Amino acid sequence: MGNLRIHPLLREMAYIFTGAGKEVYLVGGAVRDIFLGRDSADWDLATNARPEEVMGLFKRVIPTGIRHGTVTVRHRGLSVEVTTFRTESQYSDGRRPDTIQYASTIEEDLSRRDFTMNAAAVRLPEGRIVDPFDGHGDIRRRLIRCVGRAEERFAEDGLRPMRAVRFAAQLGFDLEDKTLAAIPGALDTTAKVAPERLREELDKTIAAPMPQTGFIVMEETGLLKLILPELDACRGVEQRGYHRYDVLDHSLFACAYAAKKGFSTEVRMAALFHDLGKPAAARKDEERGIWTFYKHEQESVRLTEGILRRLRYPNAVIERVLRLIREHMFHYEETWNDAAVRRFIIRAGEDLIPCLLQLRLADSAGTLGIEPDPAILLPFRRRIEASLAKTGALSLKDLAVNGRDLMAAGVAPGRHVGIILGELLEAVVEDPDLNTREKLLEIAGNINKRYQEKPVPGDPHHPGPRPAG
Ligand code: ATP
Ligand code: MG
Repeated sequence: MGNLRIHPLLREMAYIFTGAGKEVYLVGGAVRDIFLGRDSADWDLATNARPEEVMGLFKRVIPTGIRHGTVTVRHRGLSVEVTTFRTESQYSDGRRPDTIQYASTIEEDLSRRDFTMNAAAVRLPEGRIVDPFDGHGDIRRRLIRCVGRAEERFAEDGLRPMRAVRFAAQLGFDLEDKTLAAIPGALDTTAKVAPERLREELDKTIAAPMPQTGFIVMEETGLLKLILPELDACRGVEQRGYHRYDVLDHSLFACAYAAKKGFSTEVRMAALFHDLGKPAAARKDEERGIWTFYKHEQESVRLTEGILRRLRYPNAVIERVLRLIREHMFHYEETWNDAAVRRFIIRAGEDLIPCLLQLRLADSAGTLGIEPDPAILLPFRRRIEASLAKTGALSLKDLAVNGRDLMAAGVAPGRHVGIILGELLEAVVEDPDLNTREKLLEIAGNINKRYQEKPVPGDPHHPGPRPAG
């Protein structure tokens, strides 16, 4: 390969470095993308200028990762990470690098990087390739290979096995033999890695075009048992009767389908974890000779919550993934009346209904091993749309009365107000015609009478009927 054509803005930035007598290289994922023939929007630079020096060269520089020798340069609307040449850092606690040591050459900097395909650089501004570990060759061979001895590289940083998994899922590459063989021996180091770092790579694996490829490597190497033991436990859990596959393969096929269709990461996660409860819920029905998994979704929710919390997923993601899993067993039939459709919408949440239908398609794909016809969901989809068009999703704020109205009508302040509003909502979901002020106040009055006879335990506003005598 001769010199590459370099983006004019990058060249312009490079002249600022070279004008000050410094070297600068394009590194990391952007070089990998050049070898792959892909465009890359994410540029990382490496330089022999120290962070303070870089801050002196450009007007707008943010010290985003100064502890790792990284600053972010803002230049004409671009944000470019610039990292000073480094050598391999120490990971004394196995979690994060503690100190940084600067290196003087690009070759030294490249030798501390994880995989050969990530350890090439392009010298700027001229575009000369520096590829001491034949990263380009490994990309042609479609191989993920550690720079140097795999055991040592994994012992230095236990995150690297998960990074290999992530790249396998993103690129569909194989792990080179020695790289693959070194993972089982590195699991103790991986176990010490900060959960946030593991989550980041797991998340990229799930968001990749071929997550299943990553999970297969994880299972083969013991990473799955280490990081997601709940999923690993699904191997060999048979479910013949309806399914062709065991629970793990079913989950991986479901997730693969969701990825192929471009469904969101949350839907993919739900596809991956929706049946985690099956190993615990499995009961053999001796008469019919089949396995049953009664109420497994409750156990799936419990286990998935454990996984997502320990990997420090944000609460909003956890809430949505758990809701998808909790509701994944919905069973629509044409005989559902309108109230049943409205109850479904409220339980699942209007926001997640499209995702829940996608999850159902993924679940079917994972059951049958063939792509389901999305038309199977059309009748249900139409009922949901019609219901939403008529009444919306119906929530407390849609009621014709609010808490203040109830108190004005004689309901004592306290927990009764909320409870009665909840009951009114249920009534309106059953029959939207009841949603008038007059009718709701009448119903509220009746409910209130009932509660005055039977107090809510522990509510100071409602001591209940005084003891006689
Ligand atoms: P992407 O940005 O698409 O996720 P990337 O290859 O740029 O991919 P980053 O995590 O941004 O990945 O890291 C940038 C570069 O830093 C990598 O290409 C690699 O050279 C190096 N690198 C990142 N993490 C490690 C690590 N744990 N050990 C060694 N080198 C690493
Ligand atoms: Mg990057």
